[in-house]
Amino acid sequence: MSLFTIVDKETCIACGVCGVTCPQIFDYDINGLSEVIIDDNHGSKQIPELFYEDVIDAYESCPSESIKISEKPFHGNPKKYERL
Ligand code: SF4
Repeated sequence: MSLFTIVDKETCIACGVCGVTCPQIFDYDINGLSEVIIDDNHGSKQIPELFYEDVIDAYESCPSESIKISEKPFHGNPKKYERL
Protein backbone atom coordinates (compact mmCIF):
# COMPACT_ATOMS: atom_id res chain seq x y z
CA MET A 1 0.00 0.00 0.00
CA SER A 2 1.10 3.55 -0.73
CA LEU A 3 -0.23 6.61 1.06
CA PHE A 4 -0.20 10.21 -0.09
CA THR A 5 -1.53 13.32 1.63
CA ILE A 6 -2.20 16.94 0.78
CA VAL A 7 -3.88 19.86 2.56
CA ASP A 8 -6.62 21.88 0.91
CA LYS A 9 -5.44 25.32 2.00
CA GLU A 10 -8.69 26.87 0.73
CA THR A 11 -10.61 25.17 3.55
CA CYS A 12 -7.95 24.88 6.29
CA ILE A 13 -8.98 26.96 9.31
CA ALA A 14 -5.50 27.00 10.86
CA CYS A 15 -6.65 25.18 13.98
CA GLY A 16 -3.20 23.69 14.61
CA VAL A 17 -4.25 20.09 15.21
CA CYS A 18 -2.39 18.34 12.40
CA GLY A 19 1.01 19.82 13.18
CA VAL A 20 0.70 18.53 16.73
CA THR A 21 -0.61 15.13 15.66
CA CYS A 22 2.02 14.54 12.97
CA PRO A 23 4.76 17.20 12.96
CA GLN A 24 6.96 15.11 10.66
CA ILE A 25 4.45 15.59 7.84
CA PHE A 26 2.44 18.77 8.59
CA ASP A 27 3.61 22.28 9.40
CA TYR A 28 2.19 25.77 8.92
CA ASP A 29 2.89 28.58 6.50
CA ILE A 30 3.24 32.22 7.56
CA ASN A 31 -0.56 32.53 7.67
CA GLY A 32 -0.92 29.54 9.97
CA LEU A 33 -2.38 27.35 7.24
CA SER A 34 -1.22 23.78 7.19
CA GLU A 35 0.86 22.21 4.46
CA VAL A 36 2.57 18.91 3.81
CA ILE A 37 6.25 19.51 4.33
CA ILE A 38 7.71 16.43 2.64
CA ASP A 39 6.79 17.59 -0.87
CA ASP A 40 5.80 21.26 -0.58
CA ASN A 41 2.11 20.26 -0.27
CA HIS A 42 2.08 18.65 -3.69
CA GLY A 43 0.72 15.32 -2.45
CA SER A 44 2.99 13.37 -4.75
CA LYS A 45 5.60 11.89 -2.45
CA GLN A 46 4.81 8.67 -0.63
CA ILE A 47 4.48 9.06 3.10
CA PRO A 48 6.99 6.91 4.99
CA GLU A 49 5.12 3.95 6.45
CA LEU A 50 6.33 4.92 9.91
CA PHE A 51 3.95 7.92 9.82
CA TYR A 52 0.83 6.27 8.40
CA GLU A 53 -0.91 6.02 11.75
CA ASP A 54 -0.23 9.65 12.68
CA VAL A 55 -1.30 10.93 9.26
CA ILE A 56 -4.56 8.99 9.48
CA ASP A 57 -5.07 10.39 13.00
CA ALA A 58 -4.59 13.93 11.62
CA TYR A 59 -6.93 13.17 8.73
CA GLU A 60 -9.64 11.95 11.12
CA SER A 61 -9.09 14.88 13.52
CA CYS A 62 -9.15 17.73 11.01
CA PRO A 63 -12.31 19.76 11.81
CA SER A 64 -12.64 21.15 8.28
CA GLU A 65 -11.83 17.94 6.36
CA SER A 66 -8.94 19.76 4.71
CA ILE A 67 -6.49 16.88 4.96
CA LYS A 68 -6.87 14.52 2.03
CA ILE A 69 -5.37 11.05 1.87
CA SER A 70 -5.19 8.61 -1.00
CA GLU A 71 -3.33 5.54 -2.19
CA LYS A 72 -2.59 7.52 -5.37
CA PRO A 73 -0.70 10.83 -5.74
CA PHE A 74 -2.58 14.13 -5.87
CA HIS A 75 -0.17 15.96 -8.18
CA GLY A 76 -0.93 19.25 -6.41
CA ASN A 77 -4.72 19.02 -6.57
CA PRO A 78 -6.41 18.37 -3.20
CA LYS A 79 -9.78 17.94 -4.94
CA LYS A 80 -8.44 15.32 -7.35
CA TYR A 81 -10.42 12.41 -5.90
CA GLU A 82 -13.53 14.21 -4.71
CA ARG A 83 -16.81 13.56 -6.41
CA LEU A 84 -18.29 16.57 -8.12
S1 SF4 B 1 -6.18 20.04 11.28
FE1 SF4 B 1 -7.16 20.70 9.36
S2 SF4 B 1 -7.98 22.76 9.77
FE2 SF4 B 1 -6.49 22.28 11.38
S3 SF4 B 1 -4.54 23.18 10.67
FE3 SF4 B 1 -4.59 21.02 10.01
S4 SF4 B 1 -5.47 21.05 7.92
FE4 SF4 B 1 -5.94 23.03 8.89
